Amino acid sequence: MTKKALCPMCGSSNVELKEMYYKLPYVGKAYLYSIFCKDCGYKKGDVVLLELKEPRRYTVTISNPEDLYTKIVRSHTAKIILPEVGIEINPGAAAEMFINTIEGFIRKILEVVEMAKRFNEREGNKEGVKNAERVIDYLKGVLDGKNKLTIVIEDKFGNSAILSDKAKVERLED
Ligand SMILES: [Zn+2]
Repeated sequence: MTKKALCPMCGSSNVELKEMYYKLPYVGKAYLYSIFCKDCGYKKGDVVLLELKEPRRYTVTISNPEDLYTKIVRSHTAKIILPEVGIEINPGAAAEMFINTIEGFIRKILEVVEMAKRFNEREGNKEGVKNAERVIDYLKGVLDGKNKLTIVIEDKFGNSAILSDKAKVERLED
């Protein structure tokens, strides 16, 4: 489905807008959109949970390989914390996929940490390389079912969620 819109960067109408609606377990209807400007290359997309408009914190612990299939919904307003590996992803961070399995999410993080490792190697930052290797080993262990991983997702606008019975849901206080 494609319809006309204006680019917020350059005002061009040579813009591709894609919209999708999903019905998701636990959180109901979701609206996903992406826009791409063919003139200036501006790209943006996000997910909006239409039935859940409350600030929420989701916490889940991955403790067996089946848990890796748990789906997460992640908007640009999500803050994600992985305490075991000391990773915090702040709101505004680019997210390519808004609905993903935990396995896909971990693989994405692995790519980023591997990039950081190569960067630290080039810079001669041994401490940085060691830290990156520690995170990579731990996350690979999670994918192999050897390590546990806690995932915390906080979203002040209620557009992010962990779709599982095992997830603990709390109202997020400011
Ligand atoms: Zn544009």
